[in-house]
Amino acid sequence: MTEAILFELGDDGILLATLDLPGRPMNVLNAITGAAIEAMVLRVEADPAVKGLVLSSGKKDFLAGADLEGIRDIATAQQAFDLSMVLKRQLRRLEKSGKPAVAVINGMCFGGGLELTLACHHRIAVHGARLGTPEVKLGLLPGGGGTQRLPRLVGMQTAMPLLCEGSEVKADKALAIGLVHALAPDREAAIEQARAWCLGNTKAQQPWDAPKFRYPGGDSRSPAVVQMLAIAPAMAAAKSWNNYPAITHIMSCVFEGGLVDFDAALLIESRYFAACVVSPESRNMLNTLWFQLNAIKKGASRPKDIPPSKVGKLGILGAGMMGAGIAYVSAKVGIDVVLLDTTQDAADKGRAYSQDLLDKALNKGRGTAAQRDALLARITPTTDYAALAGCDLVIEAVFEDRAVKAGVTQQAESQIGVGAVFASNTSTLPISGLAQASIRPANFIGLHFFSPVDKMPLVEIIVGKETSDETLARGFDYVMQIAKTPIVVNDSRGFYTSRVFGTYVMEGLAMLAEGVHPRSIEVAGLQAGMPMPPLALQDEVSLSLGLHVADQTRKDLAAEGKPYAEHPGMAVVRQLCAIGRIGKKAGKGFYDWPAVGEKGEKRLWSGLAEMFPVAAQQPAQRELIDRLMFAQANEAARCYGEGVLRSVADANVGSIFGWGFAPFQGGALQFINAMGAQAFVARARELAARHGARFEPAPAVVALAERGGRFGD
Ligand code: NAD
Repeated sequence: MTEAILFELGDDGILLATLDLPGRPMNVLNAITGAAIEAMVLRVEADPAVKGLVLSSGKKDFLAGADLEGIRDIATAQQAFDLSMVLKRQLRRLEKSGKPAVAVINGMCFGGGLELTLACHHRIAVHGARLGTPEVKLGLLPGGGGTQRLPRLVGMQTAMPLLCEGSEVKADKALAIGLVHALAPDREAAIEQARAWCLGNTKAQQPWDAPKFRYPGGDSRSPAVVQMLAIAPAMAAAKSWNNYPAITHIMSCVFEGGLVDFDAALLIESRYFAACVVSPESRNMLNTLWFQLNAIKKGASRPKDIPPSKVGKLGILGAGMMGAGIAYVSAKVGIDVVLLDTTQDAADKGRAYSQDLLDKALNKGRGTAAQRDALLARITPTTDYAALAGCDLVIEAVFEDRAVKAGVTQQAESQIGVGAVFASNTSTLPISGLAQASIRPANFIGLHFFSPVDKMPLVEIIVGKETSDETLARGFDYVMQIAKTPIVVNDSRGFYTSRVFGTYVMEGLAMLAEGVHPRSIEVAGLQAGMPMPPLALQDEVSLSLGLHVADQTRKDLAAEGKPYAEHPGMAVVRQLCAIGRIGKKAGKGFYDWPAVGEKGEKRLWSGLAEMFPVAAQQPAQRELIDRLMFAQANEAARCYGEGVLRSVADANVGSIFGWGFAPFQGGALQFINAMGAQAFVARARELAARHGARFEPAPAVVALAERGGRFGD
């Protein structure tokens, strides 16, 4: 099992070890690589002909990290501890072999990959290399010595944010902070440098094995570090509300590891690693942000047997906020864009949005003027529908008005080929209804983008009654082409994301009406792990828009002869709108907002206390948090039961990427899976008894509770 590393011993005694995991596009740390590393270490130790080691990768990246399937399969803390100690012992032997070891780092070098290179005595980064320890993003920590070697190498103050935030550093930054020792233009040059280093440093030793080793910048006892470590946990908690135990565990590893010798420190790290692996937070995040996300990206929700497609020319109708953003992300990946609006001025403004983004990036040193100009040249602003000829896809992003949308659909369809796909970016209007304006409803689909388009990673694809599989596959391919994540849902009012997201905000507003202190509501949202609290969010979205959508829904349901039951939170929206407090855009809603261009913080409006007197008896925060989270999870379960959602992965990934559902919970349906359907049903019934029928558990969860199943079984 040594084929993951190819060995070549030079006449100079330098062993060239090339990591090249067979049958995989990327090197990862798994059982096969582990065995190969063991063989490599043995050879370095035992073969007298070997005078030094140069470790590089035969692939375009060095090593992407540990194979997460191996981590998912760990059942107990002891297993996690043992697993991390196996690799660690080998790495320790490598750095203590007395022979020089040099790592040549190309492309991505993350997690276990970086830890492997940290056990080498010298590191040379090839131009374009990216280094980091992203484990924390999945609720884990570097368990191969990373939390010990990194701080001993670059200092605790520099290591801490790298470990706790999981951000990556490019080759030149890595050199500047002392993470690597040298740079090289390409792999061959780096290998030559590495070989020379080995020959010139025949008795290599790690700094931390030198008798007089001192941490750069001080160890856990030095005043500067103690000061940093005293406030770091509080600062992290202020950001994460203690929902991410891996962050605290990493800080503990760094601090405690700095009080003991290196080998004891490695044991400490493995104990915290084990705690992370068995934590529900990391299980949730691995499930959704790794396995389910990868399944989606591999096309789990895409109809099979339809050949892959690419958009060469895209038409966008409406060059407003959304149209301009869609134009930018599409031109960025090389698509030719026709950006159409009612006036040339409006269309030009839409294109100027891209110019603005690109100029800002350029000022920050990202991209070149030539790249900017090439991207802008791909966007053609116009008022002329004839320019749409030859488009593979047209996306409308005009006003949220059925008649306006119907008009532009017909005008566009008169110009585009019969095979072209027509998509609507509506946020609220059912797709099947909009498709009635189309002469080719099978080619009609919903592509729901989120604002701001250049930042938000998700696109919700909505399948109308008549949308064909081919149209869905082509919509899916386009979303992948622009490097966004697609989820696929069936048509329904509010689709999936807007419908469930709305329950979060509305629950917060209902609490206000009941006399819950507004500050408690806002804090509960943050404690629950949501990126923004409910009242602030409603201000951002605008209360008037919320009112407009509610009134439209009421009218539509009346026309369909269906009952309309208003959420108690809507009464609060109506009361504020009635006095002109319509949200951030007006400078006043639940908050008083600083004027545009003015500095200062938003402040809760003092008049709220009169309008919604605070009750003498305040509920526990836990009750508020549960209401906010159960409202969302229950609505997601309803969407699943009604067939609006087509997969559990779409539900979970869509909730985190679409509206920021607490990532540590693993998404709206994982929230129920992790808790267990029976526990969810029991708590939901308690909430229903106290706060209203909207908390009655969705039939889909009740069914799961009865048969003891989970979503996705
Ligand atoms: P916007 O008002 O910023 O832009 C709409 C643009 O459409 C304007 O430039 C307008 O001149 C143009 N337009 C109107 N009638 C037209 C016509 N007949 N022909 C060509 N152009 C016309 O609106 P927006 O926020 O970009 O929203 C556009 C669509 O996207 C709406 O359906 C909205 O519901 C949806 N949407 C918005 C968001 C959001 O956060 N703003 C998110 C998702 C979806």
